[in-house]
Amino acid sequence: MKICSKCKFVAENGVCPMCERTKFITEAKDDDLVIVTTADYVTSALIEDILKEADIRFMKKGTLGGAITLYVGEFTETYNFYVFASDYEKALELMPNFDINEEDFDEN
Ligand SMILES: [Zn+2]
Repeated sequence: MKICSKCKFVAENGVCPMCERTKFITEAKDDDLVIVTTADYVTSALIEDILKEADIRFMKKGTLGGAITLYVGEFTETYNFYVFASDYEKALELMPNFDINEEDFDEN
């Protein structure tokens, strides 16, 4: 599995989806932390539950940084969820697919 060592995103086609560069692409080691999903404050609680339930170790990190979070409030914060590269496939399968839910609304 290829990842961007700078952004910690999985780069399936060899290009980082975040920085859109190939410079930092490297083969992931099992103990590398990679981002499995990014979630807002409300969704992050749901994802935490899913990962805990599945016994997958993860790290949750706010993307805004502590000082800004205090200023704008926690509800506006988004979180990156990091898992070990060895758990990535399993964790990804468990992630709710929010895009599909939005399409369901359109059908009604
Ligand atoms: Zn990158």
